[in-house]
Amino acid sequence: MTRRAPLLPLLVSAAVAAGATGCGDAGRSSGSASPDRPPFSGEAALELVEVQVAFGPRVPGTPGHAAQLGWMLAILDTLAPEVVADTFIHRTTSDRDLTLVNVRARFRPDESRRLVLLAHWDTRPTADQEDDPAARALPIPGANDGGSGVAVLLHLARLFAAQPPPVGVDILLVDGEDYGPGADDMFLGARRYAETVSRDDRPTYGVLLDMVGDADPLFPMEGYSAGYALPLNKRVWSVAERLGYGEWFPSRVVDPVGDDHVPLLEAGIPTIDIIDLDYGPDNTYWHTHQDTPEHVRASTLRMVGEVLAEFVYSGG
Ligand SMILES: [Zn+2]
Repeated sequence: MTRRAPLLPLLVSAAVAAGATGCGDAGRSSGSASPDRPPFSGEAALELVEVQVAFGPRVPGTPGHAAQLGWMLAILDTLAPEVVADTFIHRTTSDRDLTLVNVRARFRPDESRRLVLLAHWDTRPTADQEDDPAARALPIPGANDGGSGVAVLLHLARLFAAQPPPVGVDILLVDGEDYGPGADDMFLGARRYAETVSRDDRPTYGVLLDMVGDADPLFPMEGYSAGYALPLNKRVWSVAERLGYGEWFPSRVVDPVGDDHVPLLEAGIPTIDIIDLDYGPDNTYWHTHQDTPEHVRASTLRMVGEVLAEFVYSGG
């Protein structure tokens, strides 16, 4: 994600509600649930973060990127009735051709009412928030920024394989979100998807996960999400409230953030971004070498996974 240069004019000014901002233990037990919803294991999701980081940085064109792609496809091939890998080339602003791959796992592919759950699987090529120039030039580990969203979605795929969801669900792992350095070379996989998704495959709405594993999480409503997809945003946040997670999903609206939901919104697909904009003390782990599995919590992954699972199994 990028904090600069809003990509869309905001139609709706942020309606601020007094939300709780405390941050305690996000791992306490959840409240009432849909009877069909299988349990979501935060520990299993955290293992999926650790595996990804062990591949090395997942920067397009590197061995870690190739290893992660093969791993994701192998997992999803065992779980989903239909898996699509869409390979495409993006020429960067510095005239480099990147080979990128979006991976889409389709559950209940014949259902016309569909939900897309997406996260980026690539990681930032440079640690641009480091002070030291030598450290800044190296790629980040991407445990939270990249790894966490993929982990939650891959573990959700296990749930959907065990208990088919009541609506069609596409899990979309997009490439090239964080390449950069500027927005012209970011959100590449999401743009590709928004431009090419067929009429038959087009989802009714979408939910994006980004940076969903911090030890001290907070998910206020992001500005574009609330501005362009407020009914969906409220539905998901009310699920969080029902599960006892309202403290971490306050209904106040924060500044818009450029992220993978923007191309989908521009294509007319209502999509919200579940994103935590404060990673570590004063956000010091974001785009630095501190973005490691030790700074990701199973309890946070579980909270986000449960909210999404409950949203899906209660009918979307
Ligand atoms: Zn990032």
